[in-house]
Amino acid sequence: MDTGLFIALLNPTIALALGAAFFLLWFHQRHRSYLAVLAFSYSLSAGGFLLQYFTLPIGMMLTKLASNICFTIAGCCLAGAIVARNDRPVPYAAMGLLMGSGLSALLWFMFVSPDLTWRILSMNFAFGGLSLLIAAELRPVRHNGPIENILFMLSLLSGLNFFVRTLVVVIFHGPFTGYDGFYVSTYWTTALLTHALLSLLIALCLFTAAALDVMKALRTETHTDPLSGLLNRRGFEERADVLLQRCAAARFPVALVLADLDHFKALNDLHGHAAGDRVIADFASKLRFAAGARGVAGRIGGEEFAVLLPLSDLGAARLFAEAVRTLYSAGSVDGLPPGTKVTASFGVAARSGVEGLEPLMRRADEALYKAKRNGRDSVRLSYERPETVFTPEPLSLG
Ligand code: GH3
Ligand code: MG
Ligand code: MG
Repeated sequence: MDTGLFIALLNPTIALALGAAFFLLWFHQRHRSYLAVLAFSYSLSAGGFLLQYFTLPIGMMLTKLASNICFTIAGCCLAGAIVARNDRPVPYAAMGLLMGSGLSALLWFMFVSPDLTWRILSMNFAFGGLSLLIAAELRPVRHNGPIENILFMLSLLSGLNFFVRTLVVVIFHGPFTGYDGFYVSTYWTTALLTHALLSLLIALCLFTAAALDVMKALRTETHTDPLSGLLNRRGFEERADVLLQRCAAARFPVALVLADLDHFKALNDLHGHAAGDRVIADFASKLRFAAGARGVAGRIGGEEFAVLLPLSDLGAARLFAEAVRTLYSAGSVDGLPPGTKVTASFGVAARSGVEGLEPLMRRADEALYKAKRNGRDSVRLSYERPETVFTPEPLSLG
């Protein structure tokens, strides 16, 4: 096989393989539409490269135009997918303006004032602008993770590649007068190789990003209770451990509130399991609303809930529990017969020193047990003071 053809087939082969891989990923993750857009983008760019070599019966100029239109749409799709993956609005207007200007200039230097060098400059500058536009879009999110940072750098690099490489090659090897010898020129060889390298690196990043997105979603799923939408016991314990550590480091007070719905078995027996489920979901949404963004709320058992409240001492947590209790017992639950009263009992414990989650839960549970014995629909506190293990600050003698 001659080297020119080998190099010529390098990019379409890579692009097709990447397109197929993204398509496969999308097939198993249909809700991530950016994967389908990436599959389309890479497949279309393969078409663009093939049309550079194999002229269609419509003639050389129109084939070149078709090839550049493929590249333009593929570039816009790639840019849009990268931006959309980060939940940012796709800058359609800026993309349209950049690529529209590039294509208009291309048409001008094809049919009005034919000039290959200016055609090369027009399209490369448009793609350079598109790369820098993605970099600008990724700038605010580049600290979200290593992948965002690497994609930001690759976009910058791609922008530099389109502007600087093209200018350098055109200055030192140009101007280009026709397609004779063009496909073995330094311009074309460097363009193909840098494109192959950059598109592989970008695709590798996007694959890793897709894998990380899936892992994050799975993690959220394993930590979330589907009925209430709150953290499940596992998720609650993990988040609570982190919060306890942070509060210990900052010496902030923390308190735990446990809640258990009263006579829930009887409610299930009387109104049915589905009604019981609605009561759980309703109580959970009220608890989540009360806990706000700062508190960590979870469903840690069938009809048992926990809320860890940072910056709260025993008094503040008691007020919180009392507020939820009174609001809840005074309200009604949709779907239950009017007048049906559902109540909950609460146990509260404030952290002592650097007490861990387990002893804190045990104390709050004992307080909850007292509330149950006390006739339910009430709040009880744990006054037990486990030994504090704070190390005192060294005295400053100055
Ligand atoms: P107490 O006031 O002492 O807490 O009494 P209780 O009936 O609420 O407590 P008990 O522990 O005896 O019963 C809890 C019931 O909660 C038993 C179980 O059928 C019900 N339950 C647990 N998980 C679910 C659930 O996901 N949905 C429904 N509908 N019921 C559940
Ligand atoms: Mg109960
Ligand atoms: Mg219970």
